[in-house]
Amino acid sequence: MANARKENHSASSRGAYFNTGNGPTIQTIDIGHPVYVGLIDPDAAFWSLVKKDKLADAFSDGAFLKQYRKKQATFSAEMESIRFGLKPSAVYFNPTERCNLNCSYCYIPERMRRNGQHMSRPKLIEALSLLNDYFREILPRGRQPQIVFHGSEPMLCREALFAAIEEYEDHFSFGIQTNGTLMDDEAIQFLTSRGIGIGLSLDGHAGKIADRSRKTWTGDGVFKKVIHNLERLKGYPNYNVICTVTRENMRSLRKIVDFFHDLEVPICMLNPVRCTRQGAREIKPEDHELAINYLMALDRTYDLYEKTGRKLVVANFANILISIVAPTARRLMCDISPCGGGRCFFAVSAKGDLFPCSEFIGLKEFNGGNLFRGEIEKALDSPAFLQVTGRKVEDIDPCFRCAIRHFCGSPCPAEAYEMKGGMDCPGAFCELYEEQARYALRKIADGKEEAYLWDDWDSGTSTTLKIVSL
Ligand code: SF4
Ligand code: SF4
Repeated sequence: MANARKENHSASSRGAYFNTGNGPTIQTIDIGHPVYVGLIDPDAAFWSLVKKDKLADAFSDGAFLKQYRKKQATFSAEMESIRFGLKPSAVYFNPTERCNLNCSYCYIPERMRRNGQHMSRPKLIEALSLLNDYFREILPRGRQPQIVFHGSEPMLCREALFAAIEEYEDHFSFGIQTNGTLMDDEAIQFLTSRGIGIGLSLDGHAGKIADRSRKTWTGDGVFKKVIHNLERLKGYPNYNVICTVTRENMRSLRKIVDFFHDLEVPICMLNPVRCTRQGAREIKPEDHELAINYLMALDRTYDLYEKTGRKLVVANFANILISIVAPTARRLMCDISPCGGGRCFFAVSAKGDLFPCSEFIGLKEFNGGNLFRGEIEKALDSPAFLQVTGRKVEDIDPCFRCAIRHFCGSPCPAEAYEMKGGMDCPGAFCELYEEQARYALRKIADGKEEAYLWDDWDSGTSTTLKIVSL
């Protein structure tokens, strides 16, 4: 019956032409390249680069349509699978609410960071045991779930954390995202000898820049301490540095890239500040200005690679590039719609409360249940989580008509909800995404994309997060 209805309601067109009847919809985009333009079927994220003087031929001579038809089904199936077919395989685990720093853009409310609670060692071990049981049931044999200890500052619970890692190192792949101020030789030895992923936060190439946003409760900078620890991580392959980009450091991005490259940092993230909380919104860079500075920083990574043969991969850009060249190999799940929050991973608070993503931890209406009450499945299906996992670019204006909607995903739902007033609003940095997608297609047109990607980017097509940050 349903099929008969569908047949009655469908158009009779055989879909022989682009952009009319049942034919595929292809949008042309200017990628800022002297020779090529981009052609994209936004729904399937199918794309092609076509010489400008051959554009009319592409739409009329049939060869392009043939090429499109050959690949369309694969592209659509891949997109469907990464958008709606994944199960959780990672957890952002917040073992404490407290932090020894008071960064201006933090998404955790101040009262929690000042006076919140730590998870005790037995509770932390119980939590990992519950998560282990859950993942053993849902993941295929041999697939190791990932636990990323996340902020506030997880190293404040160092003793419980390290005990839990020792007990469960055969069951999970662990990572830690830290402000880098509480590391000592022993901690670095503990983490690096186990191959644990380490993400350190640093927002500048000099104290006068980095310390503007990241400081202690008494207002002291922490730049020197973090640098000291970064020096000690030199040569360790499994770490990255996260630079949150704000109005305060946006114009220094090129110098920051130089600095990270000098320190031999293998991977960095240049993450535009998430504007979930008011403090972050106060230092939000203008979208178009950020885009200009961001692309200059990407250019700089290319120059440095050419000069030295050593890459500094900007992971959040690399992820967009990968979403274009090999969608199922993407590693970060912010720039896809629905984003990974609540479907590829979820977050656990220091009280065991379950949230779609750490970004929601300060918003109690997004608490979907509690780990210690055995409510993981319930949380994944809760209205709180469904608000996030049901947020689709197709429902957002202007994203529903944007050609690059599946290379961007319109992040972030927490930001849209808090800053723009609703899940059906776009995130804060539309133009940055437009420019990144155009830049990525330019690099592909020039055959330079490998220079921006980590070396083993195509070693698997697993979509598990292998990088510590969101
Ligand atoms: S887009 Fe926002 S909510 Fe989604 S995974 Fe990224 S940080 Fe979390
Ligand atoms: S946020 Fe902007 S670039 Fe991203 S999908 Fe929406 S309209 Fe497109």
